[in-house]
Amino acid sequence: MSATVARNAQDALPRHAERLFVAGGWRAPAGGATFAVVDPATGEELARVADADVADGRAALTAAVDAAVGWARTPARVRSELLRAAFDALIARRERFARLITLEMGKPLAEARGEVDYAADFLRWFAEEAVRVAGRYEPSPDGRGDIVVSHRPVGPCLLITPWNFPLAMATRKIAPALAAGCTVVLKPAEQTPLTSMLFAELLDELGLPAGVVNVVTTTDAPAVCGDLIDDPRLRKLSFTGSTAVGRRLLAQAADGVLRTSMELGGNAPFLVFEDADLDAAVEGAMQAKFRNIGQACTAANRFLVHRSVAGRFAEAVGARVAALTVGHGLDEGVAIGPLIDEPARRGVDALVADAVQRGATVLAGGAPEPGPGAFYRPTVLGDVPADSRLLREEIFGPVLAIVAFDTEDEAIALANDTEYGLVSYAYTRDLARGHRLIERLETGMTGLNTGIVSNAAAPFGGVKQSGLGREGGREGIHEYLSTKYTLVAR
Ligand code: ADP
Repeated sequence: MSATVARNAQDALPRHAERLFVAGGWRAPAGGATFAVVDPATGEELARVADADVADGRAALTAAVDAAVGWARTPARVRSELLRAAFDALIARRERFARLITLEMGKPLAEARGEVDYAADFLRWFAEEAVRVAGRYEPSPDGRGDIVVSHRPVGPCLLITPWNFPLAMATRKIAPALAAGCTVVLKPAEQTPLTSMLFAELLDELGLPAGVVNVVTTTDAPAVCGDLIDDPRLRKLSFTGSTAVGRRLLAQAADGVLRTSMELGGNAPFLVFEDADLDAAVEGAMQAKFRNIGQACTAANRFLVHRSVAGRFAEAVGARVAALTVGHGLDEGVAIGPLIDEPARRGVDALVADAVQRGATVLAGGAPEPGPGAFYRPTVLGDVPADSRLLREEIFGPVLAIVAFDTEDEAIALANDTEYGLVSYAYTRDLARGHRLIERLETGMTGLNTGIVSNAAAPFGGVKQSGLGREGGREGIHEYLSTKYTLVAR
């Protein structure tokens, strides 16, 4: 554990934490209730935030509906410049946002700074995309007239975000929605609502028109969001979170045939072939596994390593992991912060215990770290048996599980043997093999000789039960646009 230093949270907190951001104003929730947000590294209360009920949620949607026509008609250049101003303002306030992210979510400060930059990048990217929504015009082959294809904003959106990237998951949805001309209600995760409130304050200061972005914090997401999903005025749901909740929301959205985007769970394979640059693979493994304390849907979950290099790989990552400092994310030199809460720690520990009981070898860590927060020792497990739960389930913690393979076909079969399909990673110096992997790995994204794929300029998303739709890239804005075709008679 790191040494503890004084951490004054007050200067990082949003000014209006106990209020909801609705229709351009800061209002107390109808019932007057609030709930506590805690620092997961200490268990101490950071602030209280407004606990919205169904009526508050509905008021936020009404504000988004009222603002929808005006915002859709606002010239794309104006929307673009607002997003660009938000990018500049966020970068200027990087340190404050980073501190707040670390305080409420737990990730090390250096990673929180990285998240601010990543989050800001969506604002810049979609500022650039806002003015490039092209349609097309072409003669109808039957000679009856001309086909005109244009794109219209889908309308008011509900955006539901998780706690693991409190800022980036919000801007990854807000930026394309605003660029497309849509208004939104954001429902941040109850563990990390403060960052969203601080971002709403930034947008408010920049003069975003009232009702374009509304933020509703609540401990009752099923009721508040359920009511909005059933409301015919809502036109789009974008969700990032667990597959279990995503499935439920999809079923609910089916009643109103609501447009949806779903970024759900992952079970990423990380393949290391016998011809890989092993140093690069170890470096990539550390990033793909331990970034965000392993709490990312893109986190590598299964390390499939060719038998001829598995021993060397395990030894190298074991040495790197033993040197990682666990502690409060604001402390100097900390690489591993706390897990988000105690249930999360129990879940990770149960997965490790299951694998060990089946015969896995503990090469590093393997147990909770004492402390007031939900710390778990960064862990490396070797020879993980095929029937271990952690090869099937998302670990969402700092546990690196190694399985040896003998042939490329076997590696690909193992990699694809999951209902998830978000991302895969592969290290090889063989170009032809690299191309075979791109084709055969059943994932929406692949990191070839890299452990990080996240990039505002690229389409992020999964296949199979990892989700529907893409965020970022040229594709991202189309999640918030509907295609309109007109036949113009000759
Ligand atoms: P995690 O397991 O990462 O916490 P969840 O899927 O539980 O992921 O949560 C992601 C987001 O979905 C959070 O904002 C949470 O409040 C919200 N959420 C959870 N359950 C529901 C639900 N039934 N309806 C709407 N939102 C929900």
